[in-house]
Amino acid sequence: MGKRTSENVLLDIALRNFYGAAEELGLDEGLIEILGNSERKLSVSIPVVMDDGTTKVFNGYRVQHSTAVGPAKGGIRFHPDVCQDECEALAMLMTWKCSLAGIPYGGGKGGVECNPLEMSMGEKERVARTLAARIEPIVGAWTDVPAPDVNTGGQEMVWFMDTISKMRGRLEPAIFTGKPISLWGSKGRTEATGYGVATCAIELLNAVGKEVKGTTVMIQGFGNVGTYAALTLVDAGAKVVGISDITGAYHCKDGIDIHKAFKHINEHPKKLLEGYTQPGLEKIPAEDLLFIDADLFIPAALEGVVNKNNADKIKVKYIVEAANGPITPEADAILDKKGILIVPDFLANSGGVIGSYFEWAQDLGGYFWTREEYNTRLIHIMKENFHRVWDFTNEKKVKMRRAAFMVAIMRVADAVRMRGVFL
Ligand code: NAD
Repeated sequence: MGKRTSENVLLDIALRNFYGAAEELGLDEGLIEILGNSERKLSVSIPVVMDDGTTKVFNGYRVQHSTAVGPAKGGIRFHPDVCQDECEALAMLMTWKCSLAGIPYGGGKGGVECNPLEMSMGEKERVARTLAARIEPIVGAWTDVPAPDVNTGGQEMVWFMDTISKMRGRLEPAIFTGKPISLWGSKGRTEATGYGVATCAIELLNAVGKEVKGTTVMIQGFGNVGTYAALTLVDAGAKVVGISDITGAYHCKDGIDIHKAFKHINEHPKKLLEGYTQPGLEKIPAEDLLFIDADLFIPAALEGVVNKNNADKIKVKYIVEAANGPITPEADAILDKKGILIVPDFLANSGGVIGSYFEWAQDLGGYFWTREEYNTRLIHIMKENFHRVWDFTNEKKVKMRRAAFMVAIMRVADAVRMRGVFL
């Protein structure tokens, strides 16, 4: 078969990153070929009777890139752009993310090509239940464990779980994670990604010998991940000097009162910073947040926000990527020349998938943990993972992003080697 390329940008980047790191590791050709392909790509049709009585057929997908380390793990999204190649790219990234996180999972991803914003609850339920029925032969607590993704959440997970439980005639709570706490979900999941991001930031500062106390931070995106990262960092002594959301950026060189801002968004009908005030606070255009004088930047909003047009003007020394892919490859090279240290997304935001692993473990055991147990275990694992990558970075004299890929690929390659090639 040889090396693959793809017309799909996401899949092409995923393949190129993999081949680059695998060659640097000196993996043998057979292993590169195995891991450059997905184990299983399932494509299904989803016929649904719409509210107006017409019948529509949607395309659905589930890709399992690798199950060498454990069951495939990864979200199911509902979006008009969903296609098999995109699912394959994201499944491959999940393999590396789970491997790097040190949890017993491979990588999977799935989705339905649809626009949920134009669908009623009833239509969404019928899409979700039909998808669950169509992928039922390949999902299971020990085979493939899906989770929420773009436009899916706790409600969809409950529909999936309920459909498969009814088909199998027994409750199957451990097949899907991201369920509500009242239905086999877990305490702690909401905060997990933000806590993990902050843990990486604190470990990075410790590793370079910089005190957390007094470190200045700016955070793009004051949503789920950004808020919990900010709260943890200020509680550890850091000073958050800039935050932003879709309503703009907010700058205060003496430090933003993050607990007050958090209370503000929770009281705002759309959970936004709009109208937030405190002494010394100035509102600036959203884009200008990136150029604030600070030590650490946490992009926690969108992909591609740091690009070749703005990378040169960024003044921070450290970036911890909370969002997926916030820095384009061109910007990455510019930031590298400026000596900026970057903790890559699939290490920094892996608190989310580690949290899913905790939910699965609790569901399999039928015994639920306290929030404190959850957080203690999460922070312990995040610290270990950070240091595994940090040590490898220093040993091999490569960037953290490349080191993270190499560490992740090595674990999966070892599993394939030990288990053998058959199946
Ligand atoms: P969220 O929707 O809760 O928050 C996103 C925030 O970004 C909001 O405050 C929004 O107003 C803001 N935002 C959007 N566009 C912006 C812009 N142009 N400028 C400034 N702010 C903008 O989402 P989240 O769950 O916090 O996720 C944030 C990022 O982290 C996403 O890239 C997501 O894929 C990634 N991520 C999230 C998790 C998780 O567990 N939630 C796990 C892994 C990765």
